[in-house]
Amino acid sequence: PDYSSYRPMEECDVAQRLATYPEVVEVLGGRPTEWAVREVGDGNLNFVYIVKGPNGSLCAKQALPFVRLVGESWPLPLDRSHFEHGALVRQAQRSGHVPKIVTYDPGQALIVMENLGRHKIWRNALIAGERHESAADVLANFMAETLFRSSDLSLDAASRKVEMVHFAANTALCKITEDLVFTDPYRAHELNRWTSPELDDTVAAIRADAEWKHAVQEMKALFLTRTEALLHGDLHTGSVMVSRTETGSEDVRIIDPEFAYYGPMGFDVGALMANLLLAFYAQDGLADDRSGMKDWLLAQVERVWSGFAERFTELWRTERTGDSYHRSLFEDVGDEEASAAACNTYLARLQVEAIGFAGAKMARRILGLAHVADLETIEPAERRAKQEKRALALARMLLVERHAIGNFAEACERARQVD
Ligand code: ADP
Ligand code: MG
Ligand code: MG
Ligand code: MG
Repeated sequence: PDYSSYRPMEECDVAQRLATYPEVVEVLGGRPTEWAVREVGDGNLNFVYIVKGPNGSLCAKQALPFVRLVGESWPLPLDRSHFEHGALVRQAQRSGHVPKIVTYDPGQALIVMENLGRHKIWRNALIAGERHESAADVLANFMAETLFRSSDLSLDAASRKVEMVHFAANTALCKITEDLVFTDPYRAHELNRWTSPELDDTVAAIRADAEWKHAVQEMKALFLTRTEALLHGDLHTGSVMVSRTETGSEDVRIIDPEFAYYGPMGFDVGALMANLLLAFYAQDGLADDRSGMKDWLLAQVERVWSGFAERFTELWRTERTGDSYHRSLFEDVGDEEASAAACNTYLARLQVEAIGFAGAKMARRILGLAHVADLETIEPAERRAKQEKRALALARMLLVERHAIGNFAEACERARQVD
């Protein structure tokens, strides 16, 4: 996009700025002077405003040319908004469960979307000990559908390459993941932080742990080179919003895909699992009796995997229209059995990779720049550190022993062992 007329919005001029978009005026109704504006961004990167008018409300997300969490000293390109928009459009087509776009202004790095006003961030629900029963199934289907349908299993090779090239330009956000997940936690870096002094010895031991660093670098190499599918790229429990009506019907949405790029499918799956496992370890620090919630969280890990594998297998059978594992070699010559075996092998490999990525994503939330509220809200520090040490012990296992662990049922078993 051309950013020559880009201007960041301020809370005081959001209404006036948004009034220039007819789609916005139509949804909100009335005049801009009647619109109420509230900044709600709790993420690390961008500014998010909720705007309410007489007829309706909206959510406006604008990228600024720097990282919100750190400030102007850390520049970050505006075009992350362009990739977020591109990902939202594709995810809506391939699966749904994303906020509807009201208008997109590329030159302002501005996405105006549906206000999920009744929803809350899933991470906050998990911290509160609340259980949304449909979240695991929605996320399993969302991942299977967005990953399968963007891959060479679904698209012809040329189309997949055009898509891959489009998202390959999202290098600045990939670099954040490359550094903050796979590199900085394992070396001295001024942006790292951890519960200190309680974890000082643990951190020193991890930086000297050759097996751990080797495993993380294997995962990083995969992240850098395997252009398998269009990833969400930041699929933690803070990128999921959930709601429940009084009658118990739930709605689950996936937000914030600005890290979208072509990478290994296991990265999205592992990211989500890591956050559920961090929530599992946080429970004992958050409240006195959360044993039921802990069992539920591990059950969700297994439910996400089994739901994912089931939907992926269904898509393999019914929608394998791409150039990879071409049907002419399998079903078309009556060999359904070989096709099913190939699908199982594909999923087994993906599962091992997801387990490794889960380990990497857990560790970085304890050792690196960006932490998770699940653990951060535990006080005092010794209580938090106790849970963080357990989470780190599991993270190491998931990385170093991912091949031996092999599946998420066993990963949950290990999670109980180090609890
Ligand atoms: P960032 O990229 O900075 O992490 P997010 O897209 O995650 O920004 O949004 C930050 C916060 O804004 C979310 O945690 C959520 O509370 C709120 N938010 C984001 N999108 C919506 C939406 N469509 N409706 C309501 N609230 C939203
Ligand atoms: Mg976010
Ligand atoms: Mg669906
Ligand atoms: Mg974001």
